Amino acid sequence: MKYDVIVVGAGMVGATAATLLARAGFSVAVIEHHEPAPFNKEQAVGLRVSAFSPGSADILGEAGAWRQIERQRFCPYRRMVVEDREETVRLEFSAAEFGLERLGTLVENELVQWSLWQSLLIQGGIDLFCPDRVTSLEYVDGDPSIGLDSGKIIQSRLLVGADGANSEIRKLLGIRQDHWEYGQSGLVCVVQTVTPNNGLAWQRFLEGGPLAFLPLADGSSSIVWSLPEADAARLLSLDNDTFIAEINHAISGGENHWPDRVSSCGPKAAFPLSMRLGERYAARRGVLMGDAAHVVHPLAGQGVNLGLLDAAGLVEVLVDARNRNVDIADEKTLEKYARWRRSESEIMARGMHGIRGLFIPEALGPLRRLGFGVVSSSWTVRDAFIKRATGRNRNAPALARGQTLTDLLRAEHH
Ligand SMILES: Cc1cc2nc3c(=O)[nH]c(=O)nc-3n(C[C@H](O)[C@H](O)[C@H](O)COP(=O)(O)OP(=O)(O)OC[C@H]3O[C@@H](n4cnc5c(N)ncnc54)[C@H](O)[C@@H]3O)c2cc1C
Repeated sequence: MKYDVIVVGAGMVGATAATLLARAGFSVAVIEHHEPAPFNKEQAVGLRVSAFSPGSADILGEAGAWRQIERQRFCPYRRMVVEDREETVRLEFSAAEFGLERLGTLVENELVQWSLWQSLLIQGGIDLFCPDRVTSLEYVDGDPSIGLDSGKIIQSRLLVGADGANSEIRKLLGIRQDHWEYGQSGLVCVVQTVTPNNGLAWQRFLEGGPLAFLPLADGSSSIVWSLPEADAARLLSLDNDTFIAEINHAISGGENHWPDRVSSCGPKAAFPLSMRLGERYAARRGVLMGDAAHVVHPLAGQGVNLGLLDAAGLVEVLVDARNRNVDIADEKTLEKYARWRRSESEIMARGMHGIRGLFIPEALGPLRRLGFGVVSSSWTVRDAFIKRATGRNRNAPALARGQTLTDLLRAEHH
């Protein structure tokens, strides 16, 4: 079997890329080892929740998933507050001041994965190999040829590695990775507060790392607490009452009314935090995207958003190549994608790394206050910050900036 594109990994990023590519008229094979669990809006809120920027919502809309998400469970947020423990520095952003309807939307990862899976199933031009996994990569007449666990062999002009942080495809393509372990974990949990969360994304930088409260549809909050690994392990082992007391201590002391005291909590889990950047995003007729290409600190909730921008970026580059009658896996075409997306994700990864550095105990208070002072007082800096956080900066792919796939394809015919 020979396809235009083989996408390995149908997580949120790979499934989006595969659907958009098929909608753009490319023949696509998708290889995934686990089918996502069916989602039911009566089920308890899942532990993994992501903040999707308006640009990402548009991309997921083009992939046919956003409408399904809106029929189930989601929570827009219109205000964002960032402060430090002493509240000597405080930043506040509202959607209205930037003429936006919302700054972003919180959705459970499981719901996004399930909605995208439905899109994959109904979209023509896609063959799904699931459950299956890649066992080998060879080249036949210069094109990638993939061996699967099931014994099947499939070929394509282009190979896409969207297989997550421990990407097998990255290794098979021989792409090195810069790797930085933070020695921290991201502890996640859904908590209820005495007064409900009314659409506020709140984050406080504590000595061990940032603690975020992100609003959910039922007024509860999804917390992400970045902590040294040993502290996270200790918190995970606490009973609920003691854990709640620790959160209430961490959020106390502010003059502001929210977050209010936590009254109950659900199960908790912790994930190791690292920064990873592929040294290149393209090699030997293959490209990387999503966590396979870059892993960033979750403090700005940008990981999956960056991946969705990669997916939209690749479609844009490939449609443009086809328009110019150039091979979609031509080295120059793939380099265009790779340079564009790597420089954008590097800005985000190093930006998050730097912001995190400003808040570690050894960091200089005056430097921190200076940084926050610049962001809070300069409209230009605030505007640039929000454009990037909403996925709508000038370098973002067209699909994140209001264009549709139909617009891209129409441009192709002119
Ligand atoms: C604590 C925490 C909080 C976070 N919060 C946010 C947030 O608020 N906002 C945000 O944008 N991001 C957030 N992130 C980051 C976000 O979760 C990731 O960036 C995102 O899930 C990556 O998606 P992906 O599709 O690239 O990779 P994955 O979700 O890892 O998907 C990879 C897929 O590939 C499949 N696969 C892997 N290997 C193979 C193989 N060999 N063959 C076949 N299939 C394979 C897997 O089964 C999986 O389905 C957070 C991360 C952490 C740790």
